[in-house]
Amino acid sequence: MENRLKVAQYITDIVERLQVEGYETYIVGGAIRDLMLKRNPKDYDLSTSATPEQIKKVFGKRRARIIGRRFKLVHLYHGREIIEISTFRSTPTKTGKPNLEKFADMPEQMIFHDNEYGSAEEDAFRRDFTVNALFYDPVAAKTIDHTGCGVNDILDGTVRVIGESELRFEEDPVRLLRALKLVGQYGFTLCEQTEKALLNSVELITHASESRLSLELEKILKGAYCDRIFAAFKRYGFLKYFLPYLDKNWDSATGQYAMKLLAVRNRRVATGDYRDSISMAMACMALPFVEATYGSNGGKLWSYEYDSTPQVIHGAIKKVFAPHHMIKRLNFSAQKMLQLQAALLNPEQGERVIRQKGYAHARELMLIQHEVMGNFTEVIDKWPKRVSTPHHRPPFKNNRRRKPKKRPPR
Ligand code: ATP
Ligand code: MG
Repeated sequence: MENRLKVAQYITDIVERLQVEGYETYIVGGAIRDLMLKRNPKDYDLSTSATPEQIKKVFGKRRARIIGRRFKLVHLYHGREIIEISTFRSTPTKTGKPNLEKFADMPEQMIFHDNEYGSAEEDAFRRDFTVNALFYDPVAAKTIDHTGCGVNDILDGTVRVIGESELRFEEDPVRLLRALKLVGQYGFTLCEQTEKALLNSVELITHASESRLSLELEKILKGAYCDRIFAAFKRYGFLKYFLPYLDKNWDSATGQYAMKLLAVRNRRVATGDYRDSISMAMACMALPFVEATYGSNGGKLWSYEYDSTPQVIHGAIKKVFAPHHMIKRLNFSAQKMLQLQAALLNPEQGERVIRQKGYAHARELMLIQHEVMGNFTEVIDKWPKRVSTPHHRPPFKNNRRRKPKKRPPR
């Protein structure tokens, strides 16, 4: 099917390079979905007939790194961006679970090996949903729809599992989350079969690997649709397995306040007013629960002393995101901006606060609260948006100059 999509030129160049070397190569996955929906793709995934070693040979070992244990793929570096290139794979034939005690409770059909190379067509059919299985060749401007319904499903906004729905969810329960992500992020609806299978299978998510789920959670929090994705999780009874504390508090004033803060944060990310910080999303979700600990809901809080509350804040973050373990850096950053809220209520603190590393985030969080509660006008006006060089190193730290190189004797 000929229909030119607006692909970044450097991606077309990479595809062309592999094609010139004789390897069939396409853009796959979320980028095609986004381009067809006239959205900006957040990144590009490529799929090719070249093996990871062959890809590395084409681009050189400085640009291309082979990663992954379960299945190998290549990270290709383009400036600060990383493009994921995977080799065509077929649907795994070995589904038998390892004969070990720790796998005893796992679903029978769960896939433990997924590393068999295959053709482009086989690769399309091992993918999860028809909307995720389109292949696009940017050099020939050609879309290939192996399943036959990917294009229509994108245009109609339908999530349809490829193959037998219940089996595919059992093979890999992370697909449950991925289906609902499409519902939340794009407003897609599940087709009847997929919906039925999903409702019968939600509990399987407890068998998914914790590291994959934490990674998915990070991806969700980074994007600008997390409030809608969590709402879809709630609607389908998935949230109680994924974020049980949020699920339990969903209908309370605290839970609703958290979702309102998150919605404002997301709008500001979508319009480019602020960056897509994961820790900001975390802080928005935890803030109402910190306030609730102090016996109040909905802003005009933070009357407690700055520096006196790290444990309360740490505890709230931990509860909201349990059973997942967010990485230390994100926990620390969310904690810091929550702690700084109290200090921001007291403009006399001035420079001391502005010089803190999390100041910009803390100010943004107060701005978000203000938009939801309208309580902080006078306070926000007193804090400058940008701060000049708070943590730039002086060029010669402690006045120590670099030693001049010894000159060779004449
Ligand atoms: P996003 O915009 O969030 O990156 P995406 O669909 O591109 O969405 P990725 O995690 O980047 O998501 O995966 C790339 C592609 O790999 C998917 O579009 C899908 O075709 C395939 N894929 C990913 N996870 C699975 C899975 N669990 N089962 C089958 N196919 C999968
Ligand atoms: Mg992707």
